[in-house]
Amino acid sequence: MRYASHVADLVGNTPLVRLGSVTRGIEATVLAKIEYFNPGSSAKDRIARNIIDAAERDGLLGPGGTIVEPTSGNTGVGLALVALQRGYRMVFVVPDKFAGEKVAVLKAYGAEVVMTPTNVPPDDPRSYYGVSDRLAREIPGAFKPNQFANQNGPRAHYETTGPEIWRDTDGMITHFVASIGTGGTISGTSRYLKEVSGGAVTIVGADPQGSIYSGGPIHSYLVEGVGEDFMPATFDPSVVDRYEMVDDAESFAMTRRLAREEGLLVGGSSGLAVVAALRTARELPAGDVVVVLLPDHGRGYLSKLYDDEWMLGNGFDVETAPVAADSLPS
Ligand code: PMP
Repeated sequence: MRYASHVADLVGNTPLVRLGSVTRGIEATVLAKIEYFNPGSSAKDRIARNIIDAAERDGLLGPGGTIVEPTSGNTGVGLALVALQRGYRMVFVVPDKFAGEKVAVLKAYGAEVVMTPTNVPPDDPRSYYGVSDRLAREIPGAFKPNQFANQNGPRAHYETTGPEIWRDTDGMITHFVASIGTGGTISGTSRYLKEVSGGAVTIVGADPQGSIYSGGPIHSYLVEGVGEDFMPATFDPSVVDRYEMVDDAESFAMTRRLAREEGLLVGGSSGLAVVAALRTARELPAGDVVVVLLPDHGRGYLSKLYDDEWMLGNGFDVETAPVAADSLPS
């Protein structure tokens, strides 16, 4: 019989699928690595497992321990899965602007969620950071993964994501494209791919317009989970050969096309990365192989980028205007 003893043991070994519709007119092969096949539906399961393994090895987390992290998203889900496998208590600190579905998901996994006000400065003791630091100090046996500084995050991608891509492309990959949040994915995966290929794989960073990485003016944007206004310790900029700057409108339009044309219901950062991958692939010959990483599932975005009213309300176009029910032929 072939079975896992726990769902948290099924992290990694996500598949590659060829993009065949949005790539029309492009000669190079474009392959998407679908990270929503992880048990928590995102690439963050990889770092969660590695960070917790390392904390146990280093004696920072043990029986009866508690994991405390400021996160409202994918990292929380990954940590929750591994924590419940190993019997740890989970406390996630979430800014109140993220109330709703994401918090409901964390609670569904049995986590405790502490809400913090969004409209206070980061150094205020009531802030997201202030509260998580205090809880990590006050709860006995607490461990704070600190995903923006913990090097076991990028290391997870060096040890798993990179080798999987090299193996599944038989070493034929020529370009790797990924978005950058903590930078863990692109830094760890690219370091492996550069080493194993002797520097032959070109690395393209996909960055939202307004984020710090691609060097333009910093301003707010709506794509979630990517881009930053500071340089995290988990990002190694030396691995990136080139950046592609992508705006919200292009990211969301491509994300919706991935669902409708490729059957890939993914998040907005996936559309962002695919725009960067297609810009790259357009210039390449038929033998080249571009791998683009799609970080998470689209179910968490149904009331946002997949909702026509939300799109129009935020000034974005939709493919077809919403049809009023009473104008449909009966
Ligand atoms: N996309 C989404 C939806 C994410 O949640 C994240 C993680 N913040 C990323 C992309 C970027 O991954 P990384 O932190 O490894 O750079």
